[in-house]
Order: sequence, then C-alpha cells, then structure tokens
Amino acid sequence: MKKLGFGCMRLPLKVKKINSSIDMTKTEEMVDYFINEGFTYFDTAYMYHDGRSERAVREALVHRHERQTFILADKMPVGMLVTKGDTSRIFRHQLKKCGVEYFDYYLLHALNAKYLERAEKLGVFEYLAKKKSEGRIKKLGFSFHDSAKVLDRILTRHPEMEFVQLQINYLDWEDEKVQSRLCYEVARKHGKDIIVMEPVKGGKLADVPEKVKELFALEHPDWSPASWAVRFCASLQGVICVLSGMSDMAQLKDNTGYMKDFEPLTQKETDILKTAAAIIKNEETVPCTSCRYCTASCPMNIAIPEYFTAYNKRLAGEDYKLYLEERAKDKGKASECIGCRKCEEVCPQHIEVVRLLKKCGEIL
Ligand code: SF4
Ligand code: SF4
Repeated sequence: MKKLGFGCMRLPLKVKKINSSIDMTKTEEMVDYFINEGFTYFDTAYMYHDGRSERAVREALVHRHERQTFILADKMPVGMLVTKGDTSRIFRHQLKKCGVEYFDYYLLHALNAKYLERAEKLGVFEYLAKKKSEGRIKKLGFSFHDSAKVLDRILTRHPEMEFVQLQINYLDWEDEKVQSRLCYEVARKHGKDIIVMEPVKGGKLADVPEKVKELFALEHPDWSPASWAVRFCASLQGVICVLSGMSDMAQLKDNTGYMKDFEPLTQKETDILKTAAAIIKNEETVPCTSCRYCTASCPMNIAIPEYFTAYNKRLAGEDYKLYLEERAKDKGKASECIGCRKCEEVCPQHIEVVRLLKKCGEIL
C-alpha cells in the first residue's frame, strides 16, 4: 500500500471547534480524492470526533466504495474498558458503526504501562486474537504512548502483535520523554511493521519558525514544512504507513502530491531536518514569571503574562489555545499594544515585552 494514511480524527467541521459537527460533503470529496489518487489506508477510532468518526467513515467510505479498494483501521479504547464484557460489546458496536464485516488493521488504543495491565486483566489480547482467527481482524497491533522500555515489555509478552503505531517526528526523534528513536529501534528489534502517528506533531511542524522555513526553501522551495515532516517518517525503514489527520482539500492535495510516488529523503535532506530540529528546540522561551507587575501599568489592559505562557506552551508542544481563550478573553489583545513600554520599565526579568508581544500576536 502507499505510505500515506488518512487519519479520521480531524475531519472537516461544519461548526468551528464543534468536533461532532463533521462536514460530510467535504469529507466525501476528500475520501474520493484520496482513493482516486491510489491511496487506501483509513484510520479511525471509537472516540474520534466525540464518537462520530466511525459513522462518518461508514457514510463517506464504506457505503460509497468497494470494500476491497480500501484498508480500514479501528481501535479498542482500552482506557474505557471496565469489565470483560465491554470489549466484545464495543467491538460489535464498532463493526456496526463502520458498516463492515471485518477490520483490516485493528489496534489496542494508546497502550502504556497502565493500560497494558488493564488489557491483560480483562483478556483483551485473547479476545482480539479470537476475532482474528474468526476473520474479523486481518492484522492485529496497538498504538503506543510510553517509554521504549515499556514497548519492549509489551512486544516481549505479546509476540502475536503484528505491528505498532508510534508517535514519530523529526522534532521528537531524540526527545527524552517521547523517545521516538528509541521506540522505533525497539519495534525494529522485534521485527514489527510500524505505522507513524503525529508526524507533524499536531500541526506544530507545519508552522515552523522563519529560520527553518528559509532553511527548507534553500533546498526545496516547493516543499511545504509539513511535507518535510511526513517525508522524514516515511523514509524510515520498516514504516509501512504515515498517518496524517487531514482537515481540508489543500492539505490532502499537498500530502497526496508528494506521497503518490514517494522518494525517501537523501542524507543531505535528513541532515537539514536535524538542523531544523535544533533551531526549533532552541527557539526562545519567554522567561516570564507571571508576577503581573506589567499588567498594572499597561494602558491597554493586555494579558501580557497569559500571552507569554501560551507562547511557551506552544513551544513545548502543549495545547495553548484553550488556555489563552479562557484567560485572555476579557483583556486587551497582543495586537493592541501601543508600544509605550511602561511594561518594560517595571519588568523584573527585563523582558522585551513589545517585541515578544508582536511575535505572540502573529503566532498565536
Ligand atoms: S508597551 Fe504595550 S504591553 Fe507594554 S504597557 Fe504599553 S501597551 Fe501595554
Ligand atoms: S512583569 Fe515581566 S515577568 Fe512579570 S508578568 Fe510581566 S512580563 Fe512577566
């Protein structure tokens, strides 16, 4: 199969931020385009889009395309399981919601040390192995969020797992917490196929600093930053598919364009990504302590520390949008700064508030 998978967790919406309001007309257009370009892999899950992704897949994909023309992956939400009966109830429900007789790829969703214990206690591995022997599952695996050590433990205890879905991207490749490279190496050691999730780190690698954009443009002016990130993952040996949660036609066309006849990155291009990762990691965080001396003197009542906190959260790859919405909604916006510098006069950290607020206004 082609190495790009359609992640059905960020489908186009009718109402902004209302996750359940999937725009089916746009979704159908995107599904058709993806298939017509020769791609086949679709990835859904029980919880995506507040439980509506599977139904959207049924309507846009399963009811409108021949079963043998696509590969469908779904997942058992281990975190929601309480009793043994939950596994079979949810699995049957998923087949119905998706309108299929079988899943091509089926995963235990988001395994970590805690969920491994739960899945073992509730007999999930045995149940899914039985479903596989009955032909309801073609390939069995799991998605994973924990350390390389835990991954090694799972694959040692469960050699029947045929593939793993890992969080891999060029920024997290050497990250101590995510351990992309170490997890990848463990999966390879156990001889497992790898599916990649979060290749663009939740959109962060689609919106890189100017310096990185310039670096990329010097080598390939026509490659988008997101395409560098997806290409990195698809170039790794043993990776059979890279998932991208596509929300509009522009993203879909960009991704399918370069993944149709995919060429792995050269050593020079891989080195450029190493430099890009270093630049992103070194990008300045704002040393704001939220002491709020500045806010008392700001004539525009700007939420200065809130903007800096949100900016730092974004750099750390954390969710900053909700934080900013809640904390800054009744206050002045970063873009309303008049440059009087009263804030800078009182800031004990000597922060260049005006310059950095401008940056926050542009980025956030
Ligand atoms: S420079 Fe901007 S942020 Fe600082 S006090 Fe003046 S208006 Fe407020
Ligand atoms: S005075 Fe400086 S450190 Fe204190 S909240 Fe304002 S920007 Fe942050």
